[in-house]
Amino acid sequence: MAIRQTEAFLIRTYPLSESSMICVFYTKDFGKVRAVARGVRNTKSKFRGQLDLLNRGELIYNEKANRELQSVREFDLIDNFDRIKANFNLFTYACYFSELVDAMESDGADNPDVFLLLTHTFRSLQKMTDLRLFARAFELQLLQISGYAPDFTRCGTCGRSFTVNDVNLHYYDQSGEIVCTSCSTPQLVSLSRGSCELMKRIQETNFDRLKRIRTSQRNQKEMRFVLSSLISFHTHRRLKSLEFLDLVEKDKW
Ligand SMILES: [Zn+2]
Repeated sequence: MAIRQTEAFLIRTYPLSESSMICVFYTKDFGKVRAVARGVRNTKSKFRGQLDLLNRGELIYNEKANRELQSVREFDLIDNFDRIKANFNLFTYACYFSELVDAMESDGADNPDVFLLLTHTFRSLQKMTDLRLFARAFELQLLQISGYAPDFTRCGTCGRSFTVNDVNLHYYDQSGEIVCTSCSTPQLVSLSRGSCELMKRIQETNFDRLKRIRTSQRNQKEMRFVLSSLISFHTHRRLKSLEFLDLVEKDKW
């Protein structure tokens, strides 16, 4: 058995028994880690107030090789993001980002860029005015880090670079490929070149500069469709928190 220490975000929790809980952490050094926090639900637990969803802290855990579930020894709180948690909308978005990381990333595959993305995301979230755009930026960056980002510059079938003449593109929602009109088939979904270019721009934009980007309702809808179908394709599921977000924000769509 090894004792590991690293910074971590608590991205998911599940009750395990009356007193214990399964915690899913995204750690700085070891990627996604699942661990049991024993006694956490007891009133006198040393973990009380520490192991809340989204919290960032210094995690110490026991690691046994070939075990899916590790064991939490200590978690020293660094930030509980109380301003995010105090705002229902921000908290709902933050839960979606956490669930998305859990769904996209495999256990034990360490990716420091994902930890960095979560760090920037929770730091930037409360400053954002357009949360829908911010969610698309998060999705695009996570897809890119995970190696699943679509190519927004050239046709996925013939390889030709898109030009100003490609006003209408098409999207193959099973694989995330974007194709030109010549390569399109009737089953494909139409996608404006404007939305395609916008996604490329958002992918390359620092969160602090997102507020300079203007989008139309059509752009928002197209980007939402492309990215959510791509995410469903790679995670093989619909995320509950995304469905909840749609419900919360239904008047915006
Ligand atoms: Zn083509």
